[in-house]
Order: sequence, then structure tokens, then C-alpha cells
Amino acid sequence: MKHRPNRIFLSPPHMGGHELNYVHKAFEDNFVAPVGPNIEGFERELCEKADVLHAVALSSGTAAIHLALILLDVGPGDEVLCSSFTFSASANPIVYQRATPVFIDSESETWNMSPEFLELGIQERIRKGKKPKALILVHLYGMPAKMDELLEIARRYEIPVIEDAAEALGSSYKKRRAGKFGEVGVFSFNGNKIITTSGGGALVSENKELVEKARFLAMQAKDPAPHYEHSQIGYNYRLSNISAGIGRGQLEVLEKRVKQRRENFSFYQEAFQGMEEMQFLQEPAGHFSNRWLSTFTLQNNSVSPEKIRLHLETCNIESRPLWKPLHLQPVFKDYPYYGERVSEHLFQSGLCLPSGSDLQEEDLQRVVKEVKKVFG
Ligand SMILES: *Cc1c(COP(=O)(O)O)cnc(C)c1O
Repeated sequence: MKHRPNRIFLSPPHMGGHELNYVHKAFEDNFVAPVGPNIEGFERELCEKADVLHAVALSSGTAAIHLALILLDVGPGDEVLCSSFTFSASANPIVYQRATPVFIDSESETWNMSPEFLELGIQERIRKGKKPKALILVHLYGMPAKMDELLEIARRYEIPVIEDAAEALGSSYKKRRAGKFGEVGVFSFNGNKIITTSGGGALVSENKELVEKARFLAMQAKDPAPHYEHSQIGYNYRLSNISAGIGRGQLEVLEKRVKQRRENFSFYQEAFQGMEEMQFLQEPAGHFSNRWLSTFTLQNNSVSPEKIRLHLETCNIESRPLWKPLHLQPVFKDYPYYGERVSEHLFQSGLCLPSGSDLQEEDLQRVVKEVKKVFG
């Protein structure tokens, strides 16, 4: 797709400056492969930045969720609890494993999984004869979920947690980094995320054994032997040494990117002050969001978010509706769901504004001016 000049994108890649040095080094040393020093460096540096003990770099966040389910022994017939208000990649790997997703609605304070509906769902699944095998929790748009409440429930029912922190690198909850709470944590470095490897992901854990098992599975599950010996089904899910080089450059500027994204959010919030119908999601005490995307919801129906989106598009500004809840997606609609209409209402009333870390003040002003025009 060709774009007119001056287009303002939703969340484009933003290089820090040193990425090419790492990529050049990989070429010089002929490490054009899914092994090499950039991979090891990237994993080590990611552990430092995300404050986790162990990490394996993978080809995508989706691959990381898939391996996480395999590590937790999720298989055919098992049920896996999952946030409904999220991107489809949070739940697709449940179906890869021929397990059944059980979707849970949001609460309105963070837009993430509601502890109340989670417990209701667990109790009902147990009554129906099966305790869910795992729980996939998402920190949507970078806002940490209510971890104390959610983890207390998960522990009480002894259900292991996969933390989908694909959108939340750099976020924290009560000073503890997102990605560190579950048995397994997942990050994405897709092109639209807060930092990118062009495409990539990582699985992290405080448990070394789990991460080593993931590394083994991600590299075709080769048993130790001079020939290729396999006693398990493997996957080709490793990140390349070239992509990891991009990631090392990006990790150098992670804190800067978080700061820039948070400044976008503050700018919008201030610029739209006084517009009563526009609501911006606040950080509850103890929640620190990387503000990956700046979003708002509209309180009355005089203007629809779609009307704003269409107007912005005529001005060459990209915006996007909030995630459509998975329990409403044609492909997932027949799976169990516990909730009311919290995520559905958010989907109908909200919009994501341009949120790139490279936005200039004049870009932000252009967005604000055009949004205000729709309100007349
Ligand atoms: C992006 C994303 C994923 C998937 O990551 P990929 O690297 O694109 O495969 C999973 N979950 C959420 C919430 C995401 O935003």
C-alpha cells in the first residue's frame, strides 16, 4: 500500500540509531543464522530491561504463547481461560493445541480481565466437570491488569498463569515489571509494538527449566546425538541473529520509548480537557502503563468513534477501533464466555489515536485539531 506524504501512522517502528551496527556485525561475522552473539546478547539485555531471570528469543509473540501452553502441558480437550478483550493472537495458540478457550470479560478500571468474572468462570467450569488447565492474562495497551486479585484466584484454584505482556514491555504493577508475574511471560517485538525486531517475540520466566525446555522445542527438539534424533515434536520458532541485532539497538532506547509514549498520552489528555464526552483511562494506584497506544472512550452517542476514524483518514491520519472482544469474533463465538458487556461496550465506544514514539508536537496538534473538528 502506498501512502501519501505526511501520513501520521498509528504505531510505526522507531529506530534508535545503533540497530544497524549490530546487523553489520552479524554480516561481518557471517552469523546470518538463527544462532549467534546477537541472540545471546539480546536475551541477556532483555532479562536486564524486563527484570526477569531467563529469556528465549523467538520468531513471534504468538510462538511464545504457543510454547507456553505446551510447557504447561495443555492439550486436546483441556480448557484455557483467556481475556476476551485482546488481539486474536492471545487465544489462537489455545486452538493450535486443540484445547478450548474460555473467555473472560474485562473490568472497567484497567480494561483487563475481571477478577469477578474469572472466579465465576472457574467455578462454573469446575461444576461442569473440568478445572481449567491454564490462564492467559493480558495487559492491554500497556495497562497492567489487577494482578493481586487475579493471582490470588489463580493460586487458590492452582491454575498456572501465562502473562501475555506483548503490549506491556516497560509497564509495571506495584513496582514489579510486567512479564514477571506468571509461570511464563510473553513479549512481542512485532513492527507495531513499543520496540521491534521487525518481527519477533520472547518467552520469559523465573524458572530456568521452563525456558530451557522452550529453547529446545523452538529449535526442532533435537535430542543430544551426532545425527538428528527426535523423541518429541519440535518447532522452528527461533529468532534470527539479524533480527536480534535490531532488537539490541531497540532495547538501548526502551526507557526513552516508554517516556515518549507516555508523553503522547499526557498531551492528548490535556489537549482534550474540557471535552466532557471524551474519557481517558487513568492509572489506578500502583499501575504504571507504558501507554503503548493512547486510547479514549466516548460517553454519549452524539459522535461515534467510527465517524472520528473516517474523518481522520480523510486527513491522512491513521486511527483504529479498540480490539473487538474475542467472544464476538466469528471464529471464537461458540466457545464459553463469562461476563456482562464491559468489553463489548469499550469496543463500541473507543478509539486508538496515533501513538508512535516519533510523533512531533505538530503531529499531535494536527490530530487534536482534526478530532475536535468532528465535534464541531
Ligand atoms: C501483538 C500481540 C500478540 C502477538 O505477538 P506477535 O509477535 O505479533 O505474534 C499477542 N498478544 C497481544 C496482546 C498482542 O498485542
